[in-house]
Amino acid sequence: MKILEIDIETAPNVAYVWSLFDQNVPIDRLVAPGYTLCFAARWQGSREIMFHSVWTDGPEAMIAKAWALLNEADMLVHYNGKKFDVPTLNREFVLVGMVPPSNYHEVDLYQVVRRRFRFASNKLDFVAQQLGLGSKVRHKGMQLWREVMGGVEKSQRVMERYNKGDVRLLARLYTKLLPWINNHPNRGLWVDNPSKPVCRNCGGTHLKKNGSEKRFTLSYNRFKCLDCGANLRSRISIKGQRNANIMV
Ligand SMILES: [Zn+2]
Repeated sequence: MKILEIDIETAPNVAYVWSLFDQNVPIDRLVAPGYTLCFAARWQGSREIMFHSVWTDGPEAMIAKAWALLNEADMLVHYNGKKFDVPTLNREFVLVGMVPPSNYHEVDLYQVVRRRFRFASNKLDFVAQQLGLGSKVRHKGMQLWREVMGGVEKSQRVMERYNKGDVRLLARLYTKLLPWINNHPNRGLWVDNPSKPVCRNCGGTHLKKNGSEKRFTLSYNRFKCLDCGANLRSRISIKGQRNANIMV
């Protein structure tokens, strides 16, 4: 299974505003819509973090590279990518007349964090620090974006470090949260003729029987993955458990 950990950075929309406070900006005051500045991505299990940007590749080659990676991926891992990174990239693709990349699954760790835990903040930086996974690369805020867009090479290198740092954090968070992901695409489907049961979340084969689980009118064997800690159950119900006296 090809799992792509990905994070993008974008340039802001530019608009004329009459005031700084509590603005609702009509479309005719928009000077220039935002665009993708750069992205960093890593194939899970690889050491190399890829980086492509408008200043290293040019906008078109960067977008083509992102498309090729998404097209190759079976699954993306991102942080709020369902709402941000993926639709942003899709917009870039359609703007240059590209067709959609092949279908892929998505694991949005932001949604996992929101659904399964109650942290004081759901921001990647905060959650990663709470879990002892490190923190985001520090930078000087909006000034960095101004300098990156203005062509300051030193700042572009900082942006690259920042973007790659996010992918590194994302990868660590994915490993940490793996057993907490309920609807993870089933990795067993990517193993040809598995000789042993395969963990849905991590693809590991060290599974321990863990009682049975009752669902609706049937019982299933329950397992715990010793590799990642995920709770699993057999797909086929335990034979002989059909009980005609159970009503639905
Ligand atoms: Zn597992």
